[in-house]
Amino acid sequence: MHGVRHAGALGDAARGAAGLTGGNVRVWRTVQALVWLIGCVIFTSLIFFPSLGLLLFWNILIPVAPLLMVVAVGLWRNVCPLASVVLLPRHMGWSRRRIMSSRTQAKLGLAGVLLLYLIVPVRHALFNNDGPATALLVGTLVVAGLAMGLRYEWKSAWCSTLCPVHPVEKLYGNNVFDAIPNAHCDSCMNCVVPCPDSTPNMNPRRPSKNAYTRLSGLLIAGGLPGFVWGWFHVPDHRGISELGDLLRVYEMPVAGLLVTLALYVGLLQLKLAREPWLTRIFSAAAVSFYYWFRIPSLLGFGQFAGDGQLVDARGVLPAWAPLAMVIASTAFFAYWLLIRKPNEKSWVVRPAYAGRAASEDRS
Ligand code: SF4
Repeated sequence: MHGVRHAGALGDAARGAAGLTGGNVRVWRTVQALVWLIGCVIFTSLIFFPSLGLLLFWNILIPVAPLLMVVAVGLWRNVCPLASVVLLPRHMGWSRRRIMSSRTQAKLGLAGVLLLYLIVPVRHALFNNDGPATALLVGTLVVAGLAMGLRYEWKSAWCSTLCPVHPVEKLYGNNVFDAIPNAHCDSCMNCVVPCPDSTPNMNPRRPSKNAYTRLSGLLIAGGLPGFVWGWFHVPDHRGISELGDLLRVYEMPVAGLLVTLALYVGLLQLKLAREPWLTRIFSAAAVSFYYWFRIPSLLGFGQFAGDGQLVDARGVLPAWAPLAMVIASTAFFAYWLLIRKPNEKSWVVRPAYAGRAASEDRS
């Protein structure tokens, strides 16, 4: 069913941040603009100064993201430069503000998980060493998100459905530090149910409304630890010449994904652990695996020389230092995600509900 209601009633741009107080609005808009500018600098560098752009994007921005998702994913979602672009039409009153059906949301959520698993291995084949290709990837995501932002209400457009980073946010952000203000939605239109931003201790298995959400929850919660582990056992290939080379970068991540997915499903079936607890264990494992391999490679101690290197610290740090760092990071994530009690905090504070004034798309 397509029903059309009038979007203009809310006076979108003027109400841009009614959920925040005046001073906070200016602070958040300033921070969003600064992070957006940084994003533009990185994007431009990827095209015109690829070595710098690749360093900034893959070896600084991306390695920080998982930690931020664990501790304060709401902060990331408030300032993500891609989100700022995608949500700009909504802030400015240019969006048609259709409400997406929950079935379409579920399908797009599953597509987001599959996109994540499809795109990330290609880093080894292409993106890690090709600035313009990475810029093209980012640009494609921006165009897709913007097109959806022009049609759909708030974060149902992209941030909580098709964005391929979102499944990881849901897995890692299950026990955040605190709920912070929502710096995008001025009032809640109930555009996503359940809203991942506003649900305490969100995890990817919670919305189990239909087969699509159940499958995406299983794939990300059970599969991500093995996928991460497998991904770090593939070297970067410079210059892929045939399809076989491209397919080879999928072998280890997909094998790892299948192993931990089978383990996750098996443990659930055998009822050896309660589902939320098991998901937290797999969440801690995935992010710990990431930093277990990523910290040494950033410092030049990785198993594949030069891959993912930020600085070569081998002449400065003792050989045992990377091991000490990864043990510390693993202990931190075990404490944060497993030992700390779930604190019933959501990523951001849900703004006041508004009466619907948007178009509906229940197809
Ligand atoms: S807070 Fe409300 S309007 Fe904003 S994304 Fe969540 S459900 Fe949608």
